[in-house]
This record gives sequence, C-alpha cells and structure tokens, in this order.
Amino acid sequence: MSFTKLGLSQPLLRAIKDQGYTTPTPIQEQAIPLIIQKRDILAAAQTGTGKTAGFTLPILHLLSHSKPHMQKKQIRALVLTPTRELAAQVQESVQTYGKHLPYKSTVIFGGVGINPQIATLRRGVDIVIATPGRLLDLASQKAIDFSQLEFLVLDEADRMLDMGFIHDIKRILKMLPPHRQTLLFSATFSSEIKKLASGMLHHPALVEVARENSTAEQISQVVHLVDRSRKRELLVKLIRDNNWKQVLVFTRTKHGANRLTKQLEEAGITAAAIHGNKSQGARTKALAGFKANEVSVLVATDIAARGLDIESLPHVVNYELPNVAEDYVHRIGRTGRAGKLGEAVSLVCVDEHALLRGIEKFSKQKIKKVAIQGFSPNPDIKAEPIQNGSGGGKNRNRRQQKRR
Ligand code: AMP
Repeated sequence: MSFTKLGLSQPLLRAIKDQGYTTPTPIQEQAIPLIIQKRDILAAAQTGTGKTAGFTLPILHLLSHSKPHMQKKQIRALVLTPTRELAAQVQESVQTYGKHLPYKSTVIFGGVGINPQIATLRRGVDIVIATPGRLLDLASQKAIDFSQLEFLVLDEADRMLDMGFIHDIKRILKMLPPHRQTLLFSATFSSEIKKLASGMLHHPALVEVARENSTAEQISQVVHLVDRSRKRELLVKLIRDNNWKQVLVFTRTKHGANRLTKQLEEAGITAAAIHGNKSQGARTKALAGFKANEVSVLVATDIAARGLDIESLPHVVNYELPNVAEDYVHRIGRTGRAGKLGEAVSLVCVDEHALLRGIEKFSKQKIKKVAIQGFSPNPDIKAEPIQNGSGGGKNRNRRQQKRR
C-alpha cells in the first residue's frame, strides 16, 4: 500500500515524501479514505500509531476542496486536545504536512497571554488546535467565530474526559454548527466515551488498529515482586525453568540492555541487545538470529522495539517497568497477536511500585502478582529514585507524560 492510493492531493503527497514516509500506517490506511469521503469517524488509536497524520492529512486535503471562508475570526477546522503539549505536536504535524499549502494554523492554550492569541485569530486562521479551557475564554470574548467550521477533531478523547473536560467539551459543542465533519480519537472506549460519541457523531465509521495497542485478553499478565539486585537471577530462572525459547526483554536504558545481555550470555543463555546505539547492521543481525531461533533472548529498549518487525512472540518480559504507562501497553502488545496466546511478565522492585500503579490505572486493570519461591522481596529494602540514562526518573517521567 502506498500513499498515492489514498486519494490525497499532490501537495500533501509531496510533503509526505519530504518526511520520508513510504507507507501509510494501518490507522492512516483505514481512516484517510473514510475521512476524504466525508464520513464521521470513531477511531481507537493511541500515540505512536500515526493517528495525527491520519486526521491531519485528509483535513488538509478537504480544505482545498471546499470554499475558503476567510472572514475575520472565522475558522474552518478545530482540533481539541487534552494538553498543550499535544496541541503543539498536532500543530507541528499540520505545518509539516501542510507546508505546500496556504493554510494557516495556530495553537491555543491557557497559561500564556491571551492577547496574542486574539490578535492571531483576528488576522485569520484556518485551523485551530486548542485545549478546551482557553478556547472557551476566547469564545466568550467573541474572539473566535465557529459559524463556518467544517471539521472538529477530538484527539485523545479519553484523556480529556479523565482530566475533567467533559463540561467544557459540551459547552464547545453547543457553539459549533451541526453540519460539520467530526472525528473522535480515543485509546479506550469507556461508556462515557461511547455516550459522548453518540451525541456528536453522525453514522460514524469505526476505525480500529491492530492489537498492538490494547492490553488484549489473550495476553496473560503477571507481576513478580523481586528485589532490585535479584532481577537477573530471577530472569535466568524463569527462562530456564520454563524453557523459554523466544523472549523479548525490555530494559529502560541502552546501558542496561547491554549489561543484561552480557549477564545472560554468562549464564549460558543466548542473547542479543537491540537499541539506538547499535548500527543498523548489528540490529538486523540480532533480529535475524532471534527469528531463526539461534538467539533466545532479545534485550531491547522501548524506542528500538518500536521498529521491530516480529510477527508474534510467546513471551515479553519487563525487566524494568517503563516510565510511561503507555509504553507498557506497547511492550506487551508484542505478544499475543493474531489470536495466539501470549504472556507478559514484569519484574517489579520496590522502586517501581508507583510506576506499576500508574500502569494499572492507565490500562484500567489490576495485574496479578505471583510470588516466586525464594525471591520474596526483602521488606527492609527501601525504594530509591529510578536511575535513567538520560536523567532522573521521576522528572523524566513527568516530561514524557506531558510530551505525549
Ligand atoms: P502519532 O501516533 O500521530 O503520534 O505518530 C507517531 C510517529 O509516527 C510520529 O513521529 C510520526 O512522525 C510518525 N509517522 C506518522 N505516519 C508515518 C508513516 N506513514 N510512516 C512513518 N512514520 C510515520
């Protein structure tokens, strides 16, 4: 499948090419043609799926196919996001993909002066990406005119509801013209999301991307509580006792991946590390060895694993929990694909209890804790801050959460 088959206009195809993208992601492949056909969309998609381009590209395409209404303060497309960081990211995409088109976009969020935002809107903007609160302020000051609005996107709708934006969203919806195209993106579909969707979408097409992004039922998840210093020993035991032949093990840092690989090798288990510091050749070799069952364990960091083309794996181990809860879902989505059963095992030490709670909250489920005989954590060991290759654990965590 190539982008040219999706029906996008030349200026967009050029921008895609400039970005170096050759193939649409599954969400793009599904959503773009439907949006171009002017359908409302209810999409299950998380960050990392390419969802932003999935709605930005077709909206930019459609904008050039309808009449511009460029009177003062009138906007044509509105994207609502839960956070200012996400708003900024979406605008970046709008600028990237729209670089050969004449449309103007702006981001609107609170915490900064309102006057420059009013001035920008007065000069004329086609696409506004906004967080709900500040948008309402601007609307109440009549600084923005929705009467000609053609597109509304709710991005990360579940997060918006979690953050208590439901009333703001409802107030905004009341101001928008009913004849518009609406696209709702959400990672999860709670009854609240369904209710919201049924009130704002007209005969929506459902778009859902592969399992990768959901904690599927066919993945059994388990946590083994263990002391920080005994994780390696426990991992070796699990691999040996269960005779695991193909395991993907996640570490938080490149350095950690290298160290663990060495330790596994020393224990007589074939292993290879795959991360950003490895050359492409080394990565390809490691992956080929793993696929050919010559290497039992692939030790990877989150970023490196994103690009891994592996069909399905029986076992995924979180040697260390990720700082970002969403990455947990991506990691374990590597197993249990295509109807097969998979197992995700997390080795959790006292430092990681807060991360575990975050993951349980994010995935809206409790993960079973199973004690392994001889590995019960020593209650005298106290939590320590998590060390990261790129700086303090907690702070980095917060920054990353915001960035997403
Ligand atoms: P998103 O899920 O929208 O946050 O996008 C995740 C990342 O994938 C972004 O860094 C995009 O630049 C990138 N991306 C989006 N579409 C494609 C594509 N078709 N091919 C390669 N990368 C893409």
